[in-house]
Amino acid sequence: MSEGPPGGEPRSPSTGGASDAADRPPTGRLAPSPTGRLHLGHARSFLLAWCSARARGGRVVLRVDDLDGPRCREEFVAGLLEDLDWLGLDWDGPPARQSEHGAAYAAALERLEARGALYACVCTRAEIRSARSAPQAGAGEARYPGTCRDRHADAAAAEAATGRTAGLRLRVPAGPVVVRDALAGESAHDVAAEVGDFLVARRDGAVAYQLAVVVDDDLQGVDEVIRGDDLLPSAARQALLMDLLDVPRPRWAHVPLLTDAAGTRLAKRTDALALASLRAAGVDPRAVVGWLAEVSGQPASPRATPAELLASFDLQRLPRAPVPVPDDVVERLRARG
Ligand SMILES: [Zn+2]
Repeated sequence: MSEGPPGGEPRSPSTGGASDAADRPPTGRLAPSPTGRLHLGHARSFLLAWCSARARGGRVVLRVDDLDGPRCREEFVAGLLEDLDWLGLDWDGPPARQSEHGAAYAAALERLEARGALYACVCTRAEIRSARSAPQAGAGEARYPGTCRDRHADAAAAEAATGRTAGLRLRVPAGPVVVRDALAGESAHDVAAEVGDFLVARRDGAVAYQLAVVVDDDLQGVDEVIRGDDLLPSAARQALLMDLLDVPRPRWAHVPLLTDAAGTRLAKRTDALALASLRAAGVDPRAVVGWLAEVSGQPASPRATPAELLASFDLQRLPRAPVPVPDDVVERLRARG
């Protein structure tokens, strides 16, 4: 994943006068999905995003990523607000919701369309899976083989010709996309080879995640994005969209995730590590913050509030490897107070 020598010029981090972002107070974001309760892993990402922005006098906005229709539930929205508040994380302005950004998504699709960057696709998932030429290493999503590229004049023609609803895909240029990351450095991602032309509007009419995130962050003025490093490949896809939409790239920092003691990434179903469970078990939120700071390389008391971390917060102290959560973490947290 490391980059070639600088100057090997694939698409370089575009946006104009480079330097800029470093000196201006940033706008960071917390973007939880209301598809379950927040657990320690989310808490860590949010704490780091909050500290990074606040430590430099920046803003923090909250956005509820509620595009994933049926899996999103109102009770989880209430739950995540409660959990963030319990931890001591605040935000500026009212929470935004992806489900309220429909007009902005439509406008972005129109702009991409006008640039000739999209085409209609009527393929089902099963068809894409069976059409892929070579068995792919790793799990991940199937690469789209380009079946519908240059096949239909537009979505209406595709639907008339096939009797199916059409989604929209981005024409992904061949070659590497270079992503600059505050922690991981530069990495090159061959989006065309890895996932191919990806969906920006799904066949059910919903905007796809990659485009939604780009539009959301632009709408909210977000210029610093700190999140799990499982999303680093997504950054390359988002960078393509940002370049096409003339949206500046944010300062990205992709953070190695918390894992369970066996090294497997924490799933949302890790109920015992849900903040609500910790709260019910009598854990002090300051113990959670103190522990998260400690495993993130930040100097902190065993119990701390997020605000107490700001004076000495430094993202560069983060370990560059996944952090295992010990099996007895709940006892350890309780022992802190
Ligand atoms: Zn297709």
